[in-house]
Amino acid sequence: MMEDTEIGTRNKRGDWQPKKRLETAPLWDWPVNIKKILAWLPGLVWPWNAFHIATTLAYFYFVLPEWETMQTLSWGWGLYLLGVNMVCVFLFYGAFELMLYKKRSQGNRFKYNAKFPGDNKSDVFWFKDQNIDNFLRTFIFSVPLWTVVEVIFLHAYATGMVPWLTWADNPYYLVALMFLTPAIHEAHFFVIHWAMHQEPIYKWVHKIHHNSINPTPWSSLSMHPVEGFLYHAVALWHLVIPSNPIVALFQLHQAGFGAINGHFGYDRIEVVKKGKYIPSESYPHYLHHKYFDVNYGGEGFVPLDKMFGFWHDGTKEGDQLMRARFQKKKEKMNQKSA
Ligand SMILES: [Zn+2]
Ligand SMILES: [Zn+2]
Repeated sequence: MMEDTEIGTRNKRGDWQPKKRLETAPLWDWPVNIKKILAWLPGLVWPWNAFHIATTLAYFYFVLPEWETMQTLSWGWGLYLLGVNMVCVFLFYGAFELMLYKKRSQGNRFKYNAKFPGDNKSDVFWFKDQNIDNFLRTFIFSVPLWTVVEVIFLHAYATGMVPWLTWADNPYYLVALMFLTPAIHEAHFFVIHWAMHQEPIYKWVHKIHHNSINPTPWSSLSMHPVEGFLYHAVALWHLVIPSNPIVALFQLHQAGFGAINGHFGYDRIEVVKKGKYIPSESYPHYLHHKYFDVNYGGEGFVPLDKMFGFWHDGTKEGDQLMRARFQKKKEKMNQKSA
């Protein structure tokens, strides 16, 4: 069985970090490295996007009401979809939370922060409890707003307000668009996320999400309602670009269920059995929760963080680059106030 100390290091406090440098997608490397791209491709699909495709298809064929029903906006099918979404979120996020943070079946193996947030009370949270606070915000705000976005695009497709490209007529384009969804997600998230870090929007909106410095699965969708809507609104791009409801739904599931990548708190997850791990893909966003002004996007499918100088690759050099940037910012602010 692989020990976490083989691929990472643990400090005196017990916090663990991977040794390997975080890398952005090799698609943008120059000169083009085909071998590296081919080695990277399976990880783009497996396991997370394969899972999102599976939930999308199951949802599309077994959950969605008739298109005729969705031509009229009504509470009936909206609340039905909300109910399904709530159950799915409860089961999916709840399973990981139960396994990793309640039963603690993996202990501290591959865990970034040695502490379990449930052990400490804090005034910033509802009922002083991060888990209860995150859980309630998820179900009171974020899942309903996820459903609002969903109802908007389903209704738009049902009424023919926007073009609906079929798989029979546009197979190559739609498959290509499926592969582009992670890029759309990353660009959308980078822009709204960076904007939400600017004052005063930060203290009004995004601060809520950052209360969880040591995130767990329930932190993923713990958002202010404005963020809860904007985050899921990524699926509405499929009303602007010619698309298909399956692709739009896939985009939505990538956001809604994919938010867990980033908030596991663990680098690898033992899902099947002890010693068998799947990557959590959480480290870039974990660093964002720790240092704030780094890694606004995701894992660098589109390396916007790198382009704008926010990329923290998890190494000592990454740390030095960040500290130099913070120092410069501080000097600039001092100059202004002087
Ligand atoms: Zn987060
Ligand atoms: Zn943030």
